[in-house]
Amino acid sequence: MKIAIGADHGGFELKERLKALLAQRGIETDDVGTHSAARTDYPDYAREVVLRVLDGRVKEGILICRTGIGMSIAANRYPGIRAALCLTPDMAAMARDHNQANVLVLGGDLETAADAERILERWLSIATVTEERHGRRLAKVETHAGALAEYAAVRETDPETAAALLGEFERERDSLDLIASENHAGRAVRLAQGSIMTNKYAEGYPGKRWYNGCEYVDQAETLAIARARRLFGADHANVQPHSGSAANMAVYFAVLQPGDTILAMSLAHGGHLTHGHKVNFSGRLFHVVGYGVHRETERIDYDEVARLAMEHRPRLIVAGASAYPRTIEFEKLRAIADETKAMLMVDMAHIAGLVAAGCHPSPVPHAEFVTSTTHKTLRGPRSGLVLCREAYAAEVDRQVFPGLQGGPLMHTIAAKAVCFREALQPEFKAYQEQVVRNARVMAETLAAHGLRIVSGGTDNHLLLVDLTPVGITGRDAAAALEKAGITVNKNAIPFDQKPPAITSGIRIGTPAVTTRGMKEEEMRRIGGWIVAVMEHASDEGFLSRLRGEVRDFARAYPLP
Ligand SMILES: *Cc1c(COP(=O)(O)O)cnc(C)c1O
Repeated sequence: MKIAIGADHGGFELKERLKALLAQRGIETDDVGTHSAARTDYPDYAREVVLRVLDGRVKEGILICRTGIGMSIAANRYPGIRAALCLTPDMAAMARDHNQANVLVLGGDLETAADAERILERWLSIATVTEERHGRRLAKVETHAGALAEYAAVRETDPETAAALLGEFERERDSLDLIASENHAGRAVRLAQGSIMTNKYAEGYPGKRWYNGCEYVDQAETLAIARARRLFGADHANVQPHSGSAANMAVYFAVLQPGDTILAMSLAHGGHLTHGHKVNFSGRLFHVVGYGVHRETERIDYDEVARLAMEHRPRLIVAGASAYPRTIEFEKLRAIADETKAMLMVDMAHIAGLVAAGCHPSPVPHAEFVTSTTHKTLRGPRSGLVLCREAYAAEVDRQVFPGLQGGPLMHTIAAKAVCFREALQPEFKAYQEQVVRNARVMAETLAAHGLRIVSGGTDNHLLLVDLTPVGITGRDAAAALEKAGITVNKNAIPFDQKPPAITSGIRIGTPAVTTRGMKEEEMRRIGGWIVAVMEHASDEGFLSRLRGEVRDFARAYPLP
């Protein structure tokens, strides 16, 4: 394996000597310069060596300037680079062994050539090993610095907004996010979403744009489309909707006229605003009939859905929910749609990650249209997606653009491409399986302490807790939990006696804490805290002591 080597004028001479030494040992070098003792700028050579290490052309690099300090500072600015300035052979050994250094930095003025050669010999003799504790610390080096680096550039322009960003980072780091619709998107997703593709106008679709210069955004969107189709086994994917709401709107506009009838799950039973709530565009434009869960089982009452479909003859049946803890039986809904000549749209916003990983049955074989968000269990950027059968592809595309939206958010589409690739990896399946196990253990823990779990448990990533038995409202419970550093949302339970702003329940989801690496044991611990907060909801001293404990606990599970 080659070694990349670079130096400024201060390190030129030593570089030439070390190259000779490496050649003697049969190691090939990639010399990025400088090639004379004429004055140059050290960051230029640091960059060339670093690029070769980061893109895998070489496994390691050597950088030299007068003291080695400038080169160290420059090289260590690049995420993934661990550049070690070594003054002794022992330092070189430690740098390899403990710090997994991938760039050796030497000071041309500090070391005699013979010393430098001994340091290099020692460096070459030590293989990097990954002892658990060193690996853990190195992972922290990358993630701690990574998050802060993202705000450093904002601070230079706008310290106030940077303070808000840093505040949000610390809030997420120091608390436990149990909001079922949230997650911690990974760094690659966030960086793609924060990328220069925000600059590009690209109205239209790949290969058919209204603007020039779309070569690279076309690449990103083509990747996103192909991966979405592969991930979900869909005929067609439109990755342009700005949000889950926009995705739903596109499907409605593709198949409905104002005044047409939709049959959808009512918000009070777990449906979503865009499924026909009267204040939402969906309820204002269309005639909406709501179905709900059965009073006894608290599961979707498919007989009621069938009866309502027969009675109202909807053009579109909408399935999918924001607060339904059970598996949705798509084949039953398909049968009802077929019998009543309705079309079926499944909004899998909440469960898309589970579907991608095979932890929830896929709606794709059963529904003409499947819509989703990409930021919930799917753990991508905040955005939306429409999947549909080939026959509806052109109409869906026309409704998204030019029907509803102007220029697509190409940076977000690039982040969706990253998200779908992550979701195609085996680790994503393991993650979703853990999300489901964690939700089940959380439900069992709370039930064991006397809280009532709506429908008796959960099949997916969330649970609804009925707080009536413990005599606290959803609103007060969520407020007390927030004081303790545990974030949930109040949520109506089916047939709730309290108004929506108060509610009898809370909704708890495990996607975000599972992303941080928490498992069954941690769920039992958090469940115990939730129960304790319900019992001491107005004891400020207790909540503030627990806040400290939760903070220490949360910090042990770094954000991605
Ligand atoms: C979250 C959600 C949406 C809306 O997503 P936005 O991106 O917030 O517009 C749509 N449908 C369901 C079922 C959801 O849970």
